[in-house]
Amino acid sequence: MTLRSPRALVEAGLARSEDLAALERVAARYAVAVTSDLSAIIDGADAADPIGLQYLPDPAELETRPEELPDPIGDAAHSPVPGIVHRYPDRVLLKPVSVCAVYCRFCFRRESVGRAEALSAGEIRGALDYVRAHPEIWEVILSGGDPLVLSPRRLARLFQDLAAIGHVKVVRIHTRLPVADPGRVTPALVRALRGSVAATWVVLHVNHPRELTGAATEACARLVDAGIPVLSQSVLLRGVNDAPEVLEALMRALVERRIKPYYLHHGDLAPGTARFRTGIADGLALAAALRGHVSGLCQPTYVLDIPGGHGKARLGPADLSRDGDEWCVADRKGRQHRYRD
Ligand SMILES: *Cc1c(COP(=O)(O)O)cnc(C)c1O
Ligand code: SF4
Repeated sequence: MTLRSPRALVEAGLARSEDLAALERVAARYAVAVTSDLSAIIDGADAADPIGLQYLPDPAELETRPEELPDPIGDAAHSPVPGIVHRYPDRVLLKPVSVCAVYCRFCFRRESVGRAEALSAGEIRGALDYVRAHPEIWEVILSGGDPLVLSPRRLARLFQDLAAIGHVKVVRIHTRLPVADPGRVTPALVRALRGSVAATWVVLHVNHPRELTGAATEACARLVDAGIPVLSQSVLLRGVNDAPEVLEALMRALVERRIKPYYLHHGDLAPGTARFRTGIADGLALAAALRGHVSGLCQPTYVLDIPGGHGKARLGPADLSRDGDEWCVADRKGRQHRYRD
């Protein structure tokens, strides 16, 4: 059963009863959900457990730092119609739902996920009309929320609608479901993602090797065996995966499962998430350590979503300069932006 309240977490031994009042305030502000697959691998006795840190609410979330932003990557500024974010010319995000199977405590969309259930039928039509009216859109990225919480029937319908738009050649799904609730990645769900002319790609959000349980491994195999390429994205998180041996184990575990590491995201400035953020220098050192002695298949691209909606920037020694205590990083149009750790 999914645990959805601080009281349920206390009863399951995953939160301390003396924190209950503070955790109720956290839960009133940010959604809480821990699936049974994940609660089974959290060590409740260890406050520093890298799985628990990702999913268990913490009183520290009530503290918002001045640099933290409700919309850290600036989705709203690029949203022409509800459910669409169009930041890059050839691709859009389509967010059919804003709920997830689990709620990550560092989520960059934490102010919007877990609230409204889904786009209305009319809003979905409006979003599809937008895609249809923009022939430059080559790829539609289903994001959210977690699009795979939709029923196979609704997903199949959405894929058929997208396939009917001739210029959409690729549909990409960003999901945590194979880790959060692998049993829901059923053959029927996998079939729903395949029944169209567009090429389907899946990007799995996973941050720690222990999240790749036997059941998660089987869920990913169902996707790959069906001919769906699977990539991964991870968020660099203090105390979870900011150690070279953990990142190496994660990337190797992914490639062993036929999943290609795609992005390693620098932590976004989401409200109440300071405890997770590392410095950019830490990320550079970790990326260099991986490059030093691990197969090229295991190398994700380390990226920063430039605050304010300027898009993603690759973070490598050649992409960054220092000005006092600030980093300078260029967006895809070559404009410089400042970032303070
Ligand atoms: C991150 C993101 C994408 C995907 O970018 P890729 O570099 O192609 O993975 C697309 N649209 C928006 C709005 C994004 O934030
Ligand atoms: S699965 Fe993604 S969208 Fe959902 S809470 Fe986690 S980071 Fe946020």
